[in-house]
Amino acid sequence: MTEVLARASGVTRRYGDVVAVDDLSVEIPAGQLLGLLGPNGAGKSTLINMFVGLRKPTSGAVELFGHDPRDVRARRRMGMTPQETGMPETLQAGEVIEFVAAHYPNPISRKELLAQFHLEDVERRQTGGLSGGEKRRLAIALAFVGRPDLVFLDEPTTGLDVEVRRALWDGVKAYNAAGGTAVITSHYLEEIEELAQRVIIIDNGRAVADDSVDALRRISGLRKVTIRALEVPALPGVVGVEQAGDVVSLITADSDQLVRDLVASGAPFADLEVSSGSLEDAFLAYTTKAPTAAPTA
Ligand code: ADP
Repeated sequence: MTEVLARASGVTRRYGDVVAVDDLSVEIPAGQLLGLLGPNGAGKSTLINMFVGLRKPTSGAVELFGHDPRDVRARRRMGMTPQETGMPETLQAGEVIEFVAAHYPNPISRKELLAQFHLEDVERRQTGGLSGGEKRRLAIALAFVGRPDLVFLDEPTTGLDVEVRRALWDGVKAYNAAGGTAVITSHYLEEIEELAQRVIIIDNGRAVADDSVDALRRISGLRKVTIRALEVPALPGVVGVEQAGDVVSLITADSDQLVRDLVASGAPFADLEVSSGSLEDAFLAYTTKAPTAAPTA
């Protein structure tokens, strides 16, 4: 059986009246690249912060390598993306790597780390002179210096351009190919599709889907029925709704039936289009409530 590196069991975290994580359970097996997807405020960061020991659950238990996440025995085997990328400005990137590496018993070599994250060109530059993207890339690479068994990457590439993101993905992929385990949150579905083997969709603090990326893609066999309408009646079988002005897209597993129901409802509409769903639609289907009342145009 695969070793479970981290485990949350019935974990709830409140901030005052806000329930950020709501009775969530998840196991992170060795070797897996797990994606956490969810809208802003869904509870992804709170969950990660509990795994890395920055927050305590209000109730339930979180374990990291069989210990409390605050235990040094657990922390030594874990890496995470720093929240901010503050580094000594006068040190060269390579020197910063050495500095961080000195804290670990068996760090990855400077050369290897620079190659893994395509950072060779910044090795001899002072971090104060690096661009935002370069700094971010270096900061993320630093999460891997100690040869962690498990890395938590919270929105690692938000705001970075596509090329920088790809360089980071290469680094994360190489780490995973060598047996490393990672949890990654992202706004970019493309990033999760590219990296993760398993995806948990979190909405309102709860895991609303937990499946392989392939299975989620199959769910994206869902259909999208798009119409132009001022008012759309509540119809059975609608699992998600997207709306832009008077253009409404209804997401459903059975577009034929939905079109029949739509016509039978007598509601006026125009420009009917049926298209196949994407991973994004699957995501929306899980995180958007079907309307109970007619949306206003
Ligand atoms: P995500 O990472 O998915 O965007 P978060 O875990 O950051 O979600 O937030 C989940 C919920 O908890 C949100 O409603 C957020 O406003 C709230 N929250 C997060 N951190 C705090 C905090 N330190 N104090 C109060 N509320 C917080």
